[in-house]
Amino acid sequence: MTTPAPPVTEPDPSALTCPGDQVGPCAACQRKTHKYGRGGCPLCQWCMAPAREKWGPGVRYINTRS
Ligand SMILES: [Zn+2]
Repeated sequence: MTTPAPPVTEPDPSALTCPGDQVGPCAACQRKTHKYGRGGCPLCQWCMAPAREKWGPGVRYINTRS
């Protein structure tokens, strides 16, 4: 599952589907991404994928009592 990221001059797909005033630069690569508002994320999906892999998809819901 390794999708090569497009050049950082290409906006993240999420930036094209959200209101323009919620678009901002990715915290890591400065690519335009859906950064603000509901559903926004400081990282573009290309930077988010490896981060999510590292943290795990349920990082907020880890059951510490297991
Ligand atoms: Zn990025």
